Amino acid sequence: MNSNWLLTILILVGLVLGTVVGQVLYDPEYLLSMPESAHAHATALTVFTFLGNTVFMGLLKMLIIPLVATSVIVGVTSVGDFRKLGKIGGWTLFYYMATMLIAVTIGLVLVTTIQPGTAISQQQRAEAEAGYATDTVKVEALEAKQQEGLGGAMKGLVSQIIPLNIVSAAAKGQPLPVIFFSIFFGVVVTTIGPKNRVIIEFFDAVFSVLMKMVTAVIWLAPVGVFALLAWTVARIGLSVFASSIGKYMFTVLAGIFVHAFVVLPLILFIFAKRGRDGSRNPFKFMHQMRQPIMTAIGTDSSSATLPVTIETATDVAGISKQSAGFVLPLGSTINMDGTALYEAVAVVFLAQAYGIELGLTTLVLIAITATLAAVGAAGIPSAGLVTMVIVLDAVNANVLAADPSASAIPVAAIGLIIGVDRILDMFRTAANVWGDAVGAKIIDRFCDDD
Ligand code: ASP
Repeated sequence: MNSNWLLTILILVGLVLGTVVGQVLYDPEYLLSMPESAHAHATALTVFTFLGNTVFMGLLKMLIIPLVATSVIVGVTSVGDFRKLGKIGGWTLFYYMATMLIAVTIGLVLVTTIQPGTAISQQQRAEAEAGYATDTVKVEALEAKQQEGLGGAMKGLVSQIIPLNIVSAAAKGQPLPVIFFSIFFGVVVTTIGPKNRVIIEFFDAVFSVLMKMVTAVIWLAPVGVFALLAWTVARIGLSVFASSIGKYMFTVLAGIFVHAFVVLPLILFIFAKRGRDGSRNPFKFMHQMRQPIMTAIGTDSSSATLPVTIETATDVAGISKQSAGFVLPLGSTINMDGTALYEAVAVVFLAQAYGIELGLTTLVLIAITATLAAVGAAGIPSAGLVTMVIVLDAVNANVLAADPSASAIPVAAIGLIIGVDRILDMFRTAANVWGDAVGAKIIDRFCDDD
């Protein structure tokens, strides 16, 4: 068995075992039958956080900024020509927006057809609103985002692009300013004549070293995803799927499934060039990208997964460094199909739960704001839940403008879905990463082999 297969199997085992162990730890009857296990439960959670967050995600995060800088510089310098660069950039942005809008539309069709919100009772609403206030960390983040609004979020995004101080932006782990600086730097490198050889060779060599570092870190993925999954499931429990909130979860998951297994493969089939072996099979490409997809499920973070995505795309799937350098770093913070879909479903679900009718114009507004809110969400756990408040506010403003006496959706309604967010985050992050990979494969048609 080659080592790639072995690693895949180990990661899968980690995912399954993590779910099982998490569920056993969650089970209150098990804890009651062994009172001394409450202490063991707390210890286990601490160990899982250490292994999953501190060690595994820590090592991945450590690689993000150097990798973003070098992969973008290597990508840009190997494209060389400005016009070609513009074409690649233009198609990349078009791909991001088009696929996010398709994802949102799928979500809206499903949520208005399935109507998961109608299953929610008055009492559940009251409990959720009361529970919301107790989650102080999330409430603070949500309120800050609410004050910022859509305009503020977009302004924040744009003003972040041009860094006042690139070292401080890099130190804060902000990918966008690093991407901007690296594109600018790379473009200028191509204009200084033969002197640039040393720079290009240097960054190419650093990129190869970083790729090797990722290959080493990914061997920790089985333990990392095991710990992260066990931690998540131990706090939420799988029984939520059978509760009245389960219908909402299934709606989000069905949307992600259709987008990831039908729409994106179809787009890939139509627009991507053939693989190295002449194959056009989109599922073969999905299979090649299995490690980043599984890492996304474990980490709930497109950014933390980025090193694995770049490594697998270039080394396993044979995507050019030009395309990977352009599409993947930018995509991990901007292109979020799963998040956009989720935000649209969540807001309509809350409106249904509060008996608020949404007309077609409001649904169109949701499609646009959910897409923009997903663009504004960082590639970190729960970012989509926080930026969702922007969509919620836009809907309320629209409903109240049409009828000032209508009732709005209270922000505390988010209490209904906060508890299960982490589980949905796994799948929407996987869809986000898969969407980036599909984009890199498609944009590869405009790039030369390197
Ligand atoms: N966790 C997601 C990501 O990193 C963002 C979200 O919360 O939807 O892609």
